[in-house]
Amino acid sequence: MRLSSSFIPTLKEIPVDATSVSHQLMLRASLVVQTAAGIYSWLPLGIRILKKISRIIEEEQEAIGANQILMTTLQPAKLWQESGRYDSYGEEMVCFKDRRGHELLYSPTNEEQATDIFRRFVKSYRQLPQNLFQIHWKFRDEIRPRFGIMRGREFLMKDGYSFDIDIESAKKTYQKVFNAYLITFRRMGLTPIPVRADSGAIGGDMSHEFQVLAATGESTLFYDSLLLELTQASKEELASAYAVSEDKHDPRACRVPEDRLRQSRGIEVGHIFYFGTKYTKSMEASVMGPKGTPIYPEMGSYGIGVSRLIGAIIEVFHDEKGIIWPESVAPFRVGLVNLQSEDTACTEAAKDLYTKLCALDVEVLYDDRKERMGVKLSDMDLIGLPWQILVGPRKLADGVFELKNRKTGEIQVLSQDGILNFFGCS
Ligand code: ATP
Ligand code: MG
Repeated sequence: MRLSSSFIPTLKEIPVDATSVSHQLMLRASLVVQTAAGIYSWLPLGIRILKKISRIIEEEQEAIGANQILMTTLQPAKLWQESGRYDSYGEEMVCFKDRRGHELLYSPTNEEQATDIFRRFVKSYRQLPQNLFQIHWKFRDEIRPRFGIMRGREFLMKDGYSFDIDIESAKKTYQKVFNAYLITFRRMGLTPIPVRADSGAIGGDMSHEFQVLAATGESTLFYDSLLLELTQASKEELASAYAVSEDKHDPRACRVPEDRLRQSRGIEVGHIFYFGTKYTKSMEASVMGPKGTPIYPEMGSYGIGVSRLIGAIIEVFHDEKGIIWPESVAPFRVGLVNLQSEDTACTEAAKDLYTKLCALDVEVLYDDRKERMGVKLSDMDLIGLPWQILVGPRKLADGVFELKNRKTGEIQVLSQDGILNFFGCS
């Protein structure tokens, strides 16, 4: 994409009301723009990152056999009256009436709706297990929206719902999702710490949060340093591990040797729950069991804060100049900067390289603006693409370009073939 014709309105100044680093950088790099308190519109760079994150989540959910659906953002109140949560969920849920006087709500979560879809189609234990997930917008009227999209009121969530024949298979499903979550977050460059958690408004008796270590996180964690090794484990090792869990509030509850006990701040990026028959019973979602009598399937639900993840990734990966995207979620892989736009040779060389990189399917953001070199370089550092190719007159006279690694600052000097090889082969 050419920067001159794109909509990437970066800001020089730090917005005064943004208190966290990720909030400041998201506004400055023009990923989002605030519409109202806790409500943000997404701009082109932001959407590209949301899509990258969503794709990783989809791949890892599909790998464990979950099926993607898309439920509505609005739900009829009667579903929540059936489960008994309509009056107990509280003021975070926004409710209103349509012109016929029917009560509706904007989904803060979708256990009821998923159970309703399930009960309409699944009638026999032979159709179990089922695991349905979606990636969609939620609204929660948070009392204190803050840190930009990290604690927003409208936010993008991956939410999944599983239905199993009995407790044993429900716990196996829970473990599968647990392992898939570790892999999912790891693919985004993060080190997730699984923490035993309260089930809160969802209900149930088994629940884990996935926390990303970051100095600016809202939670305080006490954890076993061995967990960091487990989060680096292979899929096979994960499959054979114990559910891991530690108490997030009380260091004594960790019961780990003192030399392995660590304390940190954390950002909750995922939360999973096993809650048995709470919704299948209250919403009469029984299926015919193997003995010819109806049984109530055992359920779990599984959330990932898709939009919050962008904030969490930035909190972990940034420096004083801007964001440093891990390759897997970067909006573009490489930024191509023409340092002298009035120099014909530079412009021709940059254009040629751009065309050739695009032909190799490399995602390139080409800064072809008639801007000062300093502005271009600081914008590129702010946006934080993993690689930068710098096209300048002095190097070009020798037939070479500079390839800069945004994370390490290392510069390699390469010919056009060298650059194309680098991106075509790596
Ligand atoms: P929190 O404890 O942070 O309030 P929660 O436990 O209420 O979150 P869940 O119902 O578990 O949230 O939702 C699943 C995931 O959605 C969370 O793990 C989090 O990553 C994300 N999430 C929840 N609330 C918000 C919010 N207000 N803004 C952005 N993401 C959110
Ligand atoms: Mg939670």
